[in-house]
Amino acid sequence: SAHDYDYDLVIIGAGVGGHGAALHAVECGLKTAIIEGGVIGGTCVNRGCVPSKALLAASGRVREMRDADHLKMLGIEVGDVRFERQGIADHAENLASTIRNNLTNSMKGLGVDILLGNATFRDNHTVSYGNKKCTAQNIIIATGSIPFVPPGIEIDGKTVFTSDDALKLEWLPDWVAIIGSGYIGLEFSDVYTALGSDVTFIEAMPKIMPGFDGEIAKQAERILIGPRNIDYVTNVLATKVTPGIPGEKPVTIELSDFKTREVVDVMEVDACLVATGRAPFTDGLGLGSINVETQRGFVPVNERMQALDKDGEVIEGVWCIGDANGKMMLAHAASAQGIAAIECMCGRDKVLNHNSVPAACFTHPEVSFVGMTEEQARAKGEEEGFEVTVKKTSFKANSKALAEKESDGMAKLIYRSDTGEILGMWIMGLHAADLIHEASNAVNQGMKAQDLKFAVHAHPTLAEVVDEVFKQVGSTVAH
Ligand code: FAD
Repeated sequence: SAHDYDYDLVIIGAGVGGHGAALHAVECGLKTAIIEGGVIGGTCVNRGCVPSKALLAASGRVREMRDADHLKMLGIEVGDVRFERQGIADHAENLASTIRNNLTNSMKGLGVDILLGNATFRDNHTVSYGNKKCTAQNIIIATGSIPFVPPGIEIDGKTVFTSDDALKLEWLPDWVAIIGSGYIGLEFSDVYTALGSDVTFIEAMPKIMPGFDGEIAKQAERILIGPRNIDYVTNVLATKVTPGIPGEKPVTIELSDFKTREVVDVMEVDACLVATGRAPFTDGLGLGSINVETQRGFVPVNERMQALDKDGEVIEGVWCIGDANGKMMLAHAASAQGIAAIECMCGRDKVLNHNSVPAACFTHPEVSFVGMTEEQARAKGEEEGFEVTVKKTSFKANSKALAEKESDGMAKLIYRSDTGEILGMWIMGLHAADLIHEASNAVNQGMKAQDLKFAVHAHPTLAEVVDEVFKQVGSTVAH
């Protein structure tokens, strides 16, 4: 048993990954400390999931109440709808603070030692923080990520900013360019347009929402882009962005052709949100002293989340979870990886099935998925020699969605025609983010498409959209 170490486990970084790991470690009887150099809660609670969902909730209400035609169909008429920008910003800030306190209290309540300071490895069982140090049998790196800003883009935090500053909602520019049409850019486009700003997406790929299933992206364009004050350019890079002065001098954005890198246009806008992805935050950890060679900043890990050295060998006692390992940059993936790592530490061989981890974009309406796009599934089928079946339905026939007068959207299930192995599911529509878990859990349990066919769903619920897709699966072998 262990020992001369101060702790069984030390976690570096008190974001959602570190927090989830800490709670599970205590449950497993490990003496645990967590070291935080910034603010408890990390990106998700302070600069990510939590404040962004607060802004989406408030701005979504504004959009809803300003949509007179829609309300009229429900027999409702409202007068002039006004909002206070600062009030919405305060909601986001207050929510972050509430959840930050909840996280802190849950760790304190369970006896996790919270140590403050920036941690640096001395060796694989020792870290220093501030002018102190501590030792542990196991150390988990959970240091997360920061916004990635491409070269040539100058951030001033006022007119050219990343999500870190956008979440503060300090002003509402008339016209915002959003560089990158991934889920972060899309969510902000939902907030901005609801509150009256015009949006232009700048996307390097040939089409917007490049990560989405093609059919879902088309729907999303019809529902989330078309009817709103949004336009976009594709195949272009923002190669130079120069800040302006709010209300006085515009931001200038130089656009270059993605392939030739020739300058094709210069745009002038009021503000520019840079949503071009996230970079791992592993600087200053002293990873060289434990023989880790990061890959573009990410800590390489095996499927148990054990850190690997230059030669791909496990570094005894060192683990890495969450955004810092780059496997899947989502909050719930970070904590699920943490739980799996601790199970492995305790001698139970738990490996997280990343194919079962759902993802969502919290626009109005939402988009969610688990597993592959139809395009990816078909490519895999071609490579490995199997057919792919796709079953789909729309929200148009769903009683609950019709009652809400929110029947835009669709759901699709993608599976192997021969075995029924579930390859992916995509949902776009009201509460899609909540509806994806049935498919996610089915993948996690190793269920086949045909196992879902006879599942019963309450009427009238949005879950019947999923029911309707499942019912189309063949009853014996899928086809
Ligand atoms: P983090 O939450 O980044 O936490 C890392 C912590 O480590 C930080 O507190 C940092 O200060 C600390 N740290 C770093 N280095 C050191 C050191 N050397 N010593 C001590 N402490 C250190 N994900 C979702 O699943 N759903 C969403 O809706 C969602 N929305 C998002 C919206 C936005 C705008 C953004 C930016 C992200 C969003 N994400 C969302 C992604 C999510 O925030 C991240 O995947 C998640 O925060 C990763 O958790 P983590 O624990 O790995 O790292």
